[in-house]
Amino acid sequence: MNNTIYDVIIIGSGAAGMIAGITAARANKNVLLLEQQDKVGPKLKATGGGRCNLSNTLSNADFMNSFGRNGKFMSDALNLLDHKDLIAFLGDIGVETHIPDGFRIFPVTHNSSTIIKALEKELIRLNVTLSLNTKVLRLLLENEDIVGVQCTKDDESAKFLSSKIIVATGGLGFPMLGANGDGYDFAKHLGHQVTDLYPAMLPLLTKETWVGECKADTIAKAVLKIDLPKAKKLKAVGDLIFTSKGIRGPVVLDFSREITPFLETHKEVPILVHMLKGMNEEDLRVHIKNEVKHNNDVTVLNTLIKILPESIIKELCKQVQADYTLTFKNLNGQIRDNLIKILISTPLTITDHVGFKKAMITRGGVKLKEISPKTMQSKIIDGLYFCGEVVDLDGPCGGYNLQWSFSSGNLAGHLLS
Ligand SMILES: Cc1cc2nc3c(=O)[nH]c(=O)nc-3n(C[C@H](O)[C@H](O)[C@H](O)COP(=O)(O)OP(=O)(O)OC[C@H]3O[C@@H](n4cnc5c(N)ncnc54)[C@H](O)[C@@H]3O)c2cc1C
Repeated sequence: MNNTIYDVIIIGSGAAGMIAGITAARANKNVLLLEQQDKVGPKLKATGGGRCNLSNTLSNADFMNSFGRNGKFMSDALNLLDHKDLIAFLGDIGVETHIPDGFRIFPVTHNSSTIIKALEKELIRLNVTLSLNTKVLRLLLENEDIVGVQCTKDDESAKFLSSKIIVATGGLGFPMLGANGDGYDFAKHLGHQVTDLYPAMLPLLTKETWVGECKADTIAKAVLKIDLPKAKKLKAVGDLIFTSKGIRGPVVLDFSREITPFLETHKEVPILVHMLKGMNEEDLRVHIKNEVKHNNDVTVLNTLIKILPESIIKELCKQVQADYTLTFKNLNGQIRDNLIKILISTPLTITDHVGFKKAMITRGGVKLKEISPKTMQSKIIDGLYFCGEVVDLDGPCGGYNLQWSFSSGNLAGHLLS
């Protein structure tokens, strides 16, 4: 056993754990950072397709709104470190950032390794003890007080001592990057409640097999809505891509966090997809009329080709038994109406998702009401802190989740009681 008593032990070297270590060490704390993998920041490396979309320019109020009902929990963490402070913090450790589209913030190198190297360098400069290949098995308690952690280090048993522990173990998504759900088990073992956990930000599978014929077709600014009475107000807008068995793309990544909980209860989730960039039925009829005016013999396929990819037109026509080689005029009236309806609002049925192995985010986590938003400290066990994705907060695509990990890790690292 290592007899050093650390001021704080941090479990997990993602964005949350590393910034927590830096903040605590800058306040002269003796910090031990434990990581089960052989490198720090394995998930951080994969973020943004390796480019690391670390935050965005939303105001704190709008940022919190994007996380839904629980978003206000982030107020103290954001007041201490919002996107501007994060840019300044990264600048101080040598990472220049920029905002190429005026919204999403990246390192100028567009390489997540730049951030990981800078965070690691700062941890080393501050004499944080980094212990890699060290898997925490359980948190140790004596008379209800935190005293340390039991681990395996390089496959040998090891014990480390501290009265303060920060759990920054992340979620369940992408297990090959270190996600394993240990943090939820630690929390439950010490009396915390963990909400139901769902995979989020992931491709979805559909009952309709016709989507496979449209594989790789991309629809810009598609609108997705859940067609269930309780969820009529839920919608998302963005790029949609068809796959051999379903749908993916930015809008699907964002919307999947709304759909996966419904899948648990409903088994199938009907959705409506609008692919015509806001055109309503009347606009579509005018478009058709104009095309026909221009060329009386134009086929259904060629009438629609300017507004939808060919394979989608053909598949939607098949759905309503419309012959796309005919002219609109020669279509049966009912079939024409059905075609216009399905073009304006295409029904799809989500039957499954690809699971945690491809989920960029976990929806759910350690219950917020049992954590102080002012400190990230447990309200149940003194000296126990949670930060990052392990907590019950998840945001959409666009730097939200990393900003939360940085903000909450920074707050936890202040170790206020
Ligand atoms: C492919 C992909 C791309 C993404 N892109 C973006 C993006 O561009 N922008 C964005 O905002 N978000 C993105 N996200 C989400 C974002 O990466 C996470 O929300 C964020 O990294 C979570 O940080 P964290 O510090 O809480 O946890 P993690 O980064 O998951 O870190 C947790 C660490 O704890 C370690 N650990 C777990 N259990 C133990 C244990 N028992 N003992 C020791 N160590 C342990 C793990 O090995 C891991 O290194 C992406 C996610 C994925 C999977």
